[in-house]
Amino acid sequence: MFLGAHIGIADGLANAAHTGHAIGCEAIQIFAKSPQMWAGPPIPAAAAEEFRAAVRAERLRATAVHHGYLVNLASPKRPMLARSRRAFLDEIRRADLLGVDGLIFHPGAHLGSGPEAGLKTIAESLRQALEADPDGKVRLLLENAAGQGTALCTTFEELATVIAAVGGGPRVGVALDTCHLFASGVDFRTDESYGTLVDRIDGILHRGTVRAFHLNDAKADLGSHLDRHENIGKGQIGLEGFRRLVNDSRWSETPGYLETPIDERGYDRYVEDLRSLRGLLKSPTAEPPTRSAGRRPARRASIVK
Ligand SMILES: [Zn+2]
Ligand SMILES: [Zn+2]
Repeated sequence: MFLGAHIGIADGLANAAHTGHAIGCEAIQIFAKSPQMWAGPPIPAAAAEEFRAAVRAERLRATAVHHGYLVNLASPKRPMLARSRRAFLDEIRRADLLGVDGLIFHPGAHLGSGPEAGLKTIAESLRQALEADPDGKVRLLLENAAGQGTALCTTFEELATVIAAVGGGPRVGVALDTCHLFASGVDFRTDESYGTLVDRIDGILHRGTVRAFHLNDAKADLGSHLDRHENIGKGQIGLEGFRRLVNDSRWSETPGYLETPIDERGYDRYVEDLRSLRGLLKSPTAEPPTRSAGRRPARRASIVK
């Protein structure tokens, strides 16, 4: 797995790539605008090019944009749906401008209209987006939900339903969040339960559909449906719960992005989480880039930002 994290863009897009590398990320996820706003200022072409160059220079293996939080592609309310679809298309264009591999998004919440109607609306939203952007390159990755409220795509079956309704294809995939999986009731902390998880991914989603992971421990219990991220090894999933996933050769070229809590110590928390995950790795080829590159000390006491 290419281990990485969600990096803020307050210091600029290109700096997110530099910061990611500096703290030991092989992959980074960013926002392409403020996630709490419907729209953002356009990304200047020069800033986009600078970001792409920084990603190349830092040899990041994978990149993703996470969409803004206001978008609901399943909304039963027409004006909200139209607004969401416009904002989503804007996110796709930003992601393509930045040349990232994936646009990770929350499929949506049905708000009372029911799962069936909601899933249909999500699929129609995706169809429209793909139609409006036929030459786009970025892969649209539906993120599994923890199951809070009326959020959709908590189960593999729901994810598969949307993907099938869109007709599959190379531009649609899935990002699996470990905290959301666990909160939705999927255990993967033992050989047996992890085996079942993989079987279900293969059987319902198909393995190639999973294009990214969010690596978050969970504050709340198995099946709690609460979306509360925790630092790696500090929550209910626990360190052992991540061992099989990060060592699984099925995901050797799949990015796993941390979205764990960072406090006043900033990215030091990510450094600890990355160290915890790498401590689980068996493979000698899976050394962190900070060591193999030899350009930076393996341990950095303080982090830029
Ligand atoms: Zn998300
Ligand atoms: Zn979450």
